[in-house]
Amino acid sequence: MRSLLPLALLILLATPALAQDEAARRPAATKEGPWFGVTLPPKSDAAPAVKVGPRAPRPAIFDAAPEFAADTIKSDVETIVGFARDGRAKQELGGTQMWGRVAGFRSSDRTVAWAAEQFKKAGIADVTTQPITQDEKSSLWLPHAWKVTLIGNSSFGAGSNNVVLESALPLGPSAIAGGTLYAPLVYVGTASPAVLQHIDVKGKIAVQLIVPQGHMLFERGAVDSRSDELRKRGAVGVFNLVRLPGNELSRDFSDCGNFCFNIGGRDGLFLETVLDRASQAGAPVWARVELESHTYRGLRAANGVATIRGASDETIVLNAHVDGWFDGAGDNGDGLAVLIALARHFAAPANQPQRTIVFVASAGHHTPGINGPRSFVAANPELAKKAVMLINIEHVAQRNFSPARTTSADGYREAVADSGEAPIAVGVTNNSPFLQELIDAGPARFGVNFISERSTFQSGETGGWAGLSVAKVSVMQAPPLYHTTGEVLDVISAPGLERIARFLAHFVAAADKAPRERINP
Ligand SMILES: [Zn+2]
Repeated sequence: MRSLLPLALLILLATPALAQDEAARRPAATKEGPWFGVTLPPKSDAAPAVKVGPRAPRPAIFDAAPEFAADTIKSDVETIVGFARDGRAKQELGGTQMWGRVAGFRSSDRTVAWAAEQFKKAGIADVTTQPITQDEKSSLWLPHAWKVTLIGNSSFGAGSNNVVLESALPLGPSAIAGGTLYAPLVYVGTASPAVLQHIDVKGKIAVQLIVPQGHMLFERGAVDSRSDELRKRGAVGVFNLVRLPGNELSRDFSDCGNFCFNIGGRDGLFLETVLDRASQAGAPVWARVELESHTYRGLRAANGVATIRGASDETIVLNAHVDGWFDGAGDNGDGLAVLIALARHFAAPANQPQRTIVFVASAGHHTPGINGPRSFVAANPELAKKAVMLINIEHVAQRNFSPARTTSADGYREAVADSGEAPIAVGVTNNSPFLQELIDAGPARFGVNFISERSTFQSGETGGWAGLSVAKVSVMQAPPLYHTTGEVLDVISAPGLERIARFLAHFVAAADKAPRERINP
């Protein structure tokens, strides 16, 4: 009796206190306005991903050379972006939600045809368009139409109507039986094992947070394996909140089992905040997910190839892939425009090279079973056999961005372009000291923003050139807007295009004069 009384008292006293604590932890539920008073996410295209102010990028100051004029190269990037935008208007990828320059579709063919026309206009006589057929075993998955809707509920505050997350983009090969699925959401943070042991994701859509360190490609392994783990634990789908500038659609990550969507930064912040408030209010948030997709087979594409014959039949191969997701101004509109500028330069009699130079505008970068570089090697065995060096020009003139001092109305930090270009990594597969020294001298002589570390990396389109066992040089940025709708013409630096084109012209000319053993020691 003596021991029970204090316990009963404790319960009596504690109950109202606990109830008060609960109430204190729900400020959002009592806040005025729909969706707990959280600022609704912006409509798509409401604001650019990064602010590009009126201050021009750092100028490129060189002696005049019309083929390298910054505005000329940038106007070529604009033309290349135009092929993607026209493809969107014509709904060539099954609708207007997804677009790009994709091998197997008209946008890619038009880009290759345009590149071939530029090679000819530069005065190169040997220009061909070489067809490629998609490997029979391969296919391309594309989403045609989709919608992610958060279901409104009066318990989130009066007037909480449905909210469409306009930055949602399904990842291949997502599938929803019947095309529509309703499920509650569960926030899983970084979805690490230490977190997941406490969370039941069964029958729910898991919402995981991804904070890329720079860009998405470094996160691929982690995101794909965590998504797979969520599926094994019974999640019916995954939303990746990708904390990148703006509220962009992002085409990256894959193979998550049922379905996965990437969600842009500002939509992601809204959803995260709402899930916090909803958990405090004890009200689950449900989503309706709709998806129609199509798997393409038997696609056809082409490479555009131009050859300037030198006194020597040894070849230097210059490559830029034509494919891009969305506008793809940086991936790879800028690389292709720089390739064209270099063709104009070396086609001029005054710059005639000793060796034979081959320019390849390659298709298939994003289409499984179409591999432009591999097709080039198969179709041009003589040129490939005589190669002394391959240079892949891929994403080379996007402006650099920093987190801004300002935030948007919803509290999301803005990003602002600064006066230089995003860092450019240059990989030399054989680590040739001669080539590395030329690259080391690039920043001082041409103002190019090369990262300050020698590298032997090869990625992107360089991977397709496995058939060439010579020095392979990859010139590549991978900035935050890579593979997103934010990579528009505005974020490409015209002086940056000139800087990298001038550097590459110098690099190719120096390598052209060097004996083979210096390039491939
Ligand atoms: Zn690329």
